[in-house]
This record gives sequence, structure tokens and C-alpha cells, in this order.
Amino acid sequence: MTTNEEELRRILTSASMGQVAYHTWAEQARHARRFNIARLFEALSAARMARAEHAFRQLGEVGSTAENIERALTSPEPEAVATGRITGTTTLSRELLTRAQRAAAEGRDLRADELGDLFVCLTCGEVREGQLSGACPRCGTVPENHKAFRAIEFMGTLGPHAIMSFLEHSQECLDKLLSGLDDELLARRPAPDQPSLKELAGHLADVDSVFRERAWLLLETNHPELPPAHPPTLDSAAAYRTRPAEEILEAFRASRQQTLSLLRGLTSAAWHRTGHHELYGEVNLLHQGNWAVSHERAHLVEMAQLRHDLVAAGAGCGEAEVTEVVVTGVNEGE
Ligand SMILES: [Zn+2]
Repeated sequence: MTTNEEELRRILTSASMGQVAYHTWAEQARHARRFNIARLFEALSAARMARAEHAFRQLGEVGSTAENIERALTSPEPEAVATGRITGTTTLSRELLTRAQRAAAEGRDLRADELGDLFVCLTCGEVREGQLSGACPRCGTVPENHKAFRAIEFMGTLGPHAIMSFLEHSQECLDKLLSGLDDELLARRPAPDQPSLKELAGHLADVDSVFRERAWLLLETNHPELPPAHPPTLDSAAAYRTRPAEEILEAFRASRQQTLSLLRGLTSAAWHRTGHHELYGEVNLLHQGNWAVSHERAHLVEMAQLRHDLVAAGAGCGEAEVTEVVVTGVNEGE
């Protein structure tokens, strides 16, 4: 191996591992509702990915698709190379991570004024913060070939049609997820600190009313300051554990109907009405709609898994097994 090839292999190994590390930390931050810190990790992950891809190409590992299929089948076994650092490899990434470290020490997410929009050069992995002006200072790649990690888009990029279609189907999903299980199973926690199906359903009803209030503020008032208070946490849903499932489903149904009536038939201009949020900065109704969908979808998937595990553990629940896909995916860009 030449020195250059050795260096490229080192970069490939280090950047590949760094990409996975950052991406996994982003997932974790999202789970903990630290969305700006998640955005930072995702941007740094994309930067490492671009670095790894660049090195992989330089090593001559990429040819025509037919050749790449041959390569995939013969599966190269690159020699393991000492990697050095896999994350925090640039001055800017260390500076951004230090900001996140301060916020985390205070038990909170980064605020909009602490983390600007981030842009990653897809050729070399250079990261820029704030505005994207001009080509990449490191490799000359045009701005169009950068990946943006904007606060306003980070909740998702679904359009009004996809958001509405998702919100309209959740009721049906919830009905299926709670059906055929007795009250004891519906209230059973998989672990002492993990919510039961009833608590999760109640939590979705709580959060729906918060979403509706924010949507109402955006639609009916001029550039509102959205309440910084966090939406009701799962812990506060504990009371639902002792309520009948029918009552919880009815609470969700009633809330969701009101939300849908508020949003139905809105113009594109209405979906783009803006407000200010302490954490996310300038947001619009589309941002909040994406927030509601991603939150709800994550919990519905969690409920489907919980239901599956309960049924699998208790074989004998007879009709309770659901083999169809209950929680559908969402189509971006509709
Ligand atoms: Zn570049």
C-alpha cells in the first residue's frame, strides 16, 4: 500500500465509523426530544459520510453499476487500518459540540439562537453555519450540491396533503392497536419506567390538543410567540392507566376531529404562516404539522411493537394478533 492509499483507507475507516456514531447519537437526541442537538449530530454525520465517500472513490472502489454489483458480490475485505479520531475531527465540529455540551449540562436542547442553519458540502464534507454563500471554500463545490440542515425543516418536509392524510388515519390505527386486548394487558407496563398502551394513547390525545393550540395561534394571530412550555410529557399520562380504553379513544377522537376541522381546506399561504419558537426560531404551520406527525408516528410504532410483544408473550390472547401493517409510512413531498 502506498502512503497515499494508506491515508485514504485511514480516512475511509475513521469517517465511516464517525458517520454511524453521529447518526446514532442523533437518533438518541431525537428520542430525548433534543431536536437541535439531533440536527447538529445529523449534519456532522453527513459531513463524515461525504468524507468517507470521497475517500472510497479515490481508492478506486467505484466503477460502473455492473462492476459495482460484481464488487458487492465478491465483497472486498479492506485491511483494517488504525483509524485515529472518528468524531470531533475539525475545529468547527468541536466548537459546535462544545455549544451542545453547555446546553446538555443545563439539561436542555440548543436554542435557535445558539445553532444556526447548517450546510454540508456533499463532495468534501466541509460544514458551514448560518448562510450558504458561494462555493465550498475547501473544494469549490457549488452551493446547490450542499445538504441543508435547517431548523425549520428538521421536523420533516411533509406537505399539507401528507400531513392531513396521516392525521386522518391515526384514529383507525389506535382503534386497531387497542382492540382485542383485555384491560390488564392495556395497562401493563413493559418495564416499570415504560408506559403502557393506555398511557401512550392518552399521551397522543394530550399532545394533539397542544398541537391544535399552536396551530390556532399561528392561524389566528399575527406572528405569535409559541408557548415555550414543553408539551405534556409521557409521565403526565400516568393517570390514563386507570381509565377505560374506550374513554381514552373517545378523548383522542374528539380532539383529533377538532384539529382536523381547524386544518381542513387551508390554503398554502395559511400553512406558511409563521411564528417564533424559542427552540426552533422562525417556524410555520408546516413545521408544526411535521412535528405532530413525527411525534405521533414514533409513538404509534412504539405501540405496535408493545402490542406485538404482549401478544407474543401471552400466546392465548386468541384473536389479538395483528399481522397487517397498522402504522403506515408517510410519503415525503406530497
Ligand atoms: Zn467541499
